[in-house]
Amino acid sequence: MDVVMTIAGTDSGGGAGIQADLKTFQELKVFGTSAITALTAQNTLGVQGIFPISPDFVLQQLTSVFSDFDVKAVKTGMLFSAEIIEVIAHFLQQKNVQLVIDPVMIAKGGESLLQKEAVEALKSKLIPLATVLTPNIPEAEVISGIKIENEDQMANAAHKILQYGVQCVVMKGGHLHDQYSATDKVYLADGTTFSMKSERIQTKHTHGTGCTFSAALTSFLAKGYSLKNAMIEAKKFVQLAIENPLNIGHGHGPTNHFA
Ligand code: PLP
Repeated sequence: MDVVMTIAGTDSGGGAGIQADLKTFQELKVFGTSAITALTAQNTLGVQGIFPISPDFVLQQLTSVFSDFDVKAVKTGMLFSAEIIEVIAHFLQQKNVQLVIDPVMIAKGGESLLQKEAVEALKSKLIPLATVLTPNIPEAEVISGIKIENEDQMANAAHKILQYGVQCVVMKGGHLHDQYSATDKVYLADGTTFSMKSERIQTKHTHGTGCTFSAALTSFLAKGYSLKNAMIEAKKFVQLAIENPLNIGHGHGPTNHFA
Protein backbone atom coordinates (compact mmCIF):
# COMPACT_ATOMS: atom_id res chain seq x y z
CA MET A 1 0.00 0.00 0.00
CA ASP A 2 1.42 3.39 -0.98
CA VAL A 3 1.68 5.86 1.91
CA VAL A 4 1.05 9.59 1.38
CA MET A 5 0.95 12.55 3.72
CA THR A 6 -0.96 15.81 3.90
CA ILE A 7 0.49 18.76 5.81
CA ALA A 8 -2.40 21.19 6.17
CA GLY A 9 -5.10 22.77 8.31
CA THR A 10 -8.34 21.08 9.39
CA ASP A 11 -11.88 21.98 8.34
CA SER A 12 -14.38 21.06 11.05
CA GLY A 13 -17.08 21.14 8.33
CA GLY A 14 -15.34 18.27 6.58
CA GLY A 15 -15.25 19.80 3.09
CA ALA A 16 -11.71 21.14 2.73
CA GLY A 17 -8.29 20.87 4.34
CA ILE A 18 -7.08 17.70 6.07
CA GLN A 19 -10.54 16.16 5.97
CA ALA A 20 -10.90 16.57 2.19
CA ASP A 21 -7.37 15.26 1.70
CA LEU A 22 -7.89 12.10 3.77
CA LYS A 23 -11.24 11.39 2.06
CA THR A 24 -9.58 11.76 -1.32
CA PHE A 25 -6.70 9.47 -0.31
CA GLN A 26 -9.18 6.86 0.88
CA GLU A 27 -11.21 6.98 -2.35
CA LEU A 28 -8.05 6.63 -4.41
CA LYS A 29 -6.78 3.72 -2.31
CA VAL A 30 -3.60 5.16 -0.86
CA PHE A 31 -2.86 5.23 2.89
CA GLY A 32 -3.17 8.80 4.17
CA THR A 33 -1.17 10.21 7.07
CA SER A 34 -1.23 13.83 8.24
CA ALA A 35 0.57 16.64 10.04
CA ILE A 36 -1.81 19.38 11.16
CA THR A 37 -0.65 23.00 10.97
CA ALA A 38 -3.79 24.71 12.26
CA LEU A 39 -7.28 23.86 13.44
CA THR A 40 -10.15 25.78 11.92
CA ALA A 41 -13.69 26.15 13.22
CA GLN A 42 -15.40 26.13 9.86
CA ASN A 43 -18.53 25.18 7.93
CA THR A 44 -19.90 25.76 4.42
CA LEU A 45 -20.68 29.39 5.35
CA GLY A 46 -17.10 30.34 6.24
CA VAL A 47 -14.22 30.14 8.68
CA GLN A 48 -15.25 31.19 12.19
CA GLY A 49 -11.94 30.60 13.98
CA ILE A 50 -8.29 29.59 13.50
CA PHE A 51 -6.04 27.96 16.10
CA PRO A 52 -2.48 27.50 14.83
CA ILE A 53 -0.38 24.56 16.02
CA SER A 54 3.12 25.39 17.32
CA PRO A 55 5.93 24.83 14.76
CA ASP A 56 7.59 22.41 17.22
CA PHE A 57 4.50 20.24 17.31
CA VAL A 58 4.17 20.31 13.51
CA LEU A 59 7.75 19.00 13.44
CA GLN A 60 6.90 16.32 16.00
CA GLN A 61 4.06 15.03 13.78
CA LEU A 62 6.36 14.93 10.74
CA THR A 63 9.03 13.09 12.71
CA SER A 64 6.56 10.52 14.06
CA VAL A 65 5.18 9.67 10.63
CA PHE A 66 8.46 9.63 8.71
CA SER A 67 10.27 7.58 11.37
CA ASP A 68 7.77 4.77 10.83
CA PHE A 69 6.37 4.95 7.27
CA ASP A 70 7.94 4.97 3.84
CA VAL A 71 6.08 8.08 2.63
CA LYS A 72 6.03 8.26 -1.19
CA ALA A 73 4.42 11.64 -1.77
CA VAL A 74 3.46 14.65 0.35
CA LYS A 75 1.07 17.52 -0.23
CA THR A 76 0.88 20.79 1.62
CA GLY A 77 -2.25 22.92 2.01
CA MET A 78 -2.93 25.63 4.61
CA LEU A 79 0.44 26.40 6.24
CA PHE A 80 -0.56 29.57 8.11
CA SER A 81 2.81 31.10 9.12
CA ALA A 82 6.43 31.59 8.02
CA GLU A 83 7.62 29.72 11.13
CA ILE A 84 5.58 26.63 10.24
CA ILE A 85 6.79 26.78 6.61
CA GLU A 86 10.42 26.99 7.73
CA VAL A 87 10.12 23.90 9.93
CA ILE A 88 8.45 21.90 7.14
CA ALA A 89 10.97 23.00 4.50
CA HIS A 90 13.92 22.15 6.74
CA PHE A 91 12.45 18.71 7.42
CA LEU A 92 11.49 17.86 3.83
CA GLN A 93 14.86 19.00 2.46
CA GLN A 94 16.35 15.82 3.90
CA LYS A 95 13.66 13.48 2.52
CA ASN A 96 13.31 11.94 -0.89
CA VAL A 97 9.60 12.49 -1.60
CA GLN A 98 7.49 13.95 -4.35
CA LEU A 99 6.02 17.20 -3.07
CA VAL A 100 2.80 18.83 -4.25
CA ILE A 101 2.23 22.36 -2.93
CA ASP A 102 -1.27 23.81 -2.98
CA PRO A 103 -0.41 27.39 -1.98
CA VAL A 104 -3.59 27.98 0.02
CA MET A 105 -3.94 31.66 0.92
CA ILE A 106 -7.53 32.85 1.28
CA ALA A 107 -10.76 30.90 1.88
CA LYS A 108 -13.77 31.61 -0.35
CA GLY A 109 -15.30 33.66 2.45
CA GLY A 110 -12.23 35.92 2.48
CA GLU A 111 -10.54 34.63 5.65
CA SER A 112 -6.75 34.54 5.47
CA LEU A 113 -5.29 31.03 5.79
CA LEU A 114 -1.69 32.19 5.21
CA GLN A 115 -0.22 35.24 6.91
CA LYS A 116 1.04 37.90 4.45
CA GLU A 117 4.57 37.70 5.86
CA ALA A 118 4.63 33.96 5.10
CA VAL A 119 4.55 34.34 1.29
CA GLU A 120 8.29 35.06 1.19
CA ALA A 121 9.11 31.86 3.13
CA LEU A 122 6.84 29.88 0.82
CA LYS A 123 8.69 31.25 -2.23
CA SER A 124 12.23 30.94 -0.95
CA LYS A 125 12.10 27.83 1.27
CA LEU A 126 9.32 25.47 0.22
CA ILE A 127 8.59 26.03 -3.48
CA PRO A 128 12.18 25.11 -4.52
CA LEU A 129 11.58 21.62 -3.05
CA ALA A 130 8.36 20.98 -4.94
CA THR A 131 7.53 18.65 -7.80
CA VAL A 132 4.31 20.53 -8.56
CA LEU A 133 2.74 23.83 -7.48
CA THR A 134 -1.04 24.11 -7.98
CA PRO A 135 -2.02 27.80 -7.66
CA ASN A 136 -5.34 29.26 -8.69
CA ILE A 137 -5.09 32.61 -10.48
CA PRO A 138 -5.18 34.87 -7.36
CA GLU A 139 -2.50 32.73 -5.68
CA ALA A 140 -0.32 32.76 -8.81
CA GLU A 141 -0.62 36.56 -8.87
CA VAL A 142 0.61 36.86 -5.28
CA ILE A 143 3.50 34.41 -5.80
CA SER A 144 4.67 35.84 -9.15
CA GLY A 145 3.77 39.49 -8.61
CA ILE A 146 2.16 39.47 -12.10
CA LYS A 147 -1.47 40.48 -12.71
CA ILE A 148 -3.22 37.73 -14.71
CA GLU A 149 -6.14 38.51 -17.02
CA ASN A 150 -5.29 36.44 -20.09
CA GLU A 151 -3.31 33.42 -21.22
CA ASP A 152 -0.11 35.37 -21.99
CA GLN A 153 0.01 36.76 -18.47
CA MET A 154 -0.73 33.27 -17.14
CA ALA A 155 2.32 31.94 -19.01
CA ASN A 156 4.51 34.82 -17.82
CA ALA A 157 3.52 34.19 -14.21
CA ALA A 158 4.12 30.44 -14.57
CA HIS A 159 7.58 30.98 -16.04
CA LYS A 160 8.47 33.35 -13.23
CA ILE A 161 7.32 30.78 -10.65
CA LEU A 162 9.32 28.01 -12.39
CA GLN A 163 12.42 30.13 -11.76
CA TYR A 164 11.91 29.61 -8.00
CA GLY A 165 12.91 25.97 -8.58
CA VAL A 166 9.65 24.01 -8.78
CA GLN A 167 9.51 21.41 -11.58
CA CYS A 168 5.95 22.04 -12.72
CA VAL A 169 3.21 24.67 -12.28
CA VAL A 170 -0.48 23.90 -12.81
CA MET A 171 -2.42 27.12 -13.20
CA LYS A 172 -6.03 26.37 -12.28
CA GLY A 173 -8.14 28.43 -14.64
CA GLY A 174 -11.40 28.35 -12.67
CA HIS A 175 -11.01 32.01 -11.65
CA LEU A 176 -10.51 33.29 -15.23
CA HIS A 177 -13.57 34.98 -16.74
CA ASP A 178 -14.49 32.29 -19.23
CA GLN A 179 -18.16 31.49 -19.15
CA TYR A 180 -17.93 28.13 -20.89
CA SER A 181 -14.77 26.36 -19.84
CA ALA A 182 -12.35 26.00 -16.94
CA THR A 183 -9.00 25.27 -18.53
CA ASP A 184 -6.03 24.38 -16.36
CA LYS A 185 -2.65 25.05 -17.94
CA VAL A 186 0.39 23.01 -17.06
CA TYR A 187 3.92 24.45 -17.44
CA LEU A 188 6.98 22.25 -17.01
CA ALA A 189 10.54 23.32 -16.25
CA ASP A 190 11.73 21.70 -19.52
CA GLY A 191 9.69 24.29 -21.44
CA THR A 192 6.75 22.05 -22.39
CA THR A 193 3.17 23.09 -21.77
CA PHE A 194 -0.21 21.40 -22.04
CA SER A 195 -3.83 22.28 -21.31
CA MET A 196 -6.55 20.40 -19.44
CA LYS A 197 -9.85 21.74 -20.66
CA SER A 198 -13.20 21.00 -19.06
CA GLU A 199 -16.69 22.38 -19.28
CA ARG A 200 -17.43 25.05 -16.67
CA ILE A 201 -20.00 23.79 -14.19
CA GLN A 202 -22.33 26.46 -12.86
CA THR A 203 -22.37 25.71 -9.14
CA LYS A 204 -21.61 27.37 -5.83
CA HIS A 205 -20.74 24.00 -4.31
CA THR A 206 -17.00 24.10 -4.83
CA HIS A 207 -15.74 24.17 -1.24
CA GLY A 208 -12.54 22.16 -1.03
CA THR A 209 -12.00 21.78 -4.77
CA GLY A 210 -8.36 22.88 -4.63
CA CYS A 211 -7.57 20.61 -1.69
CA THR A 212 -9.20 17.67 -3.44
CA PHE A 213 -7.31 18.24 -6.72
CA SER A 214 -3.91 18.43 -5.03
CA ALA A 215 -4.67 15.41 -2.81
CA ALA A 216 -5.70 13.39 -5.88
CA LEU A 217 -2.56 14.47 -7.72
CA THR A 218 -0.44 13.37 -4.72
CA SER A 219 -2.22 9.99 -4.67
CA PHE A 220 -1.58 9.29 -8.35
CA LEU A 221 2.08 10.36 -8.07
CA ALA A 222 2.52 7.98 -5.11
CA LYS A 223 1.05 5.17 -7.21
CA GLY A 224 3.74 5.79 -9.81
CA TYR A 225 1.76 7.63 -12.51
CA SER A 226 3.75 10.00 -14.72
CA LEU A 227 3.31 13.67 -13.87
CA LYS A 228 1.10 14.21 -16.94
CA ASN A 229 -1.13 11.18 -16.30
CA ALA A 230 -1.40 11.97 -12.57
CA MET A 231 -2.56 15.45 -13.49
CA ILE A 232 -5.15 14.22 -15.99
CA GLU A 233 -6.55 11.66 -13.53
CA ALA A 234 -6.65 14.22 -10.68
CA LYS A 235 -8.56 16.65 -12.90
CA LYS A 236 -11.10 13.90 -13.75
CA PHE A 237 -11.55 13.09 -10.05
CA VAL A 238 -12.22 16.70 -9.06
CA GLN A 239 -14.47 17.27 -12.09
CA LEU A 240 -16.70 14.36 -11.03
CA ALA A 241 -16.70 15.65 -7.45
CA ILE A 242 -17.94 19.07 -8.64
CA GLU A 243 -20.50 17.65 -11.10
CA ASN A 244 -22.27 15.67 -8.36
CA PRO A 245 -22.84 18.05 -5.43
CA LEU A 246 -23.94 16.57 -2.12
CA ASN A 247 -26.26 19.47 -1.24
CA ILE A 248 -25.34 19.59 2.43
CA GLY A 249 -24.78 22.72 4.51
CA HIS A 250 -26.24 26.18 3.83
CA GLY A 251 -23.34 27.83 2.00
CA HIS A 252 -20.70 26.69 -0.46
CA GLY A 253 -21.30 22.96 -0.18
CA PRO A 254 -18.43 20.48 -0.26
CA THR A 255 -17.26 18.64 -3.35
CA ASN A 256 -18.40 15.04 -3.49
CA HIS A 257 -15.56 12.60 -2.87
CA PHE A 258 -17.84 9.60 -3.39
CA ALA A 259 -18.54 10.56 -7.01
N1 PLP B 1 -9.93 25.62 5.01
C1 PLP B 1 -8.82 24.91 4.94
C2 PLP B 1 -8.25 24.31 6.19
C3 PLP B 1 -8.20 24.74 3.71
O1 PLP B 1 -7.07 24.04 3.61
C4 PLP B 1 -8.77 25.29 2.55
C5 PLP B 1 -8.15 25.02 1.28
O2 PLP B 1 -8.05 25.70 0.34
C6 PLP B 1 -9.92 26.07 2.66
C7 PLP B 1 -10.47 26.19 3.90
C8 PLP B 1 -10.48 26.77 1.49
O3 PLP B 1 -11.70 26.30 1.18
P1 PLP B 1 -12.50 26.93 -0.03
O4 PLP B 1 -12.38 25.90 -1.12
O5 PLP B 1 -13.90 27.08 0.45
O6 PLP B 1 -11.86 28.22 -0.39
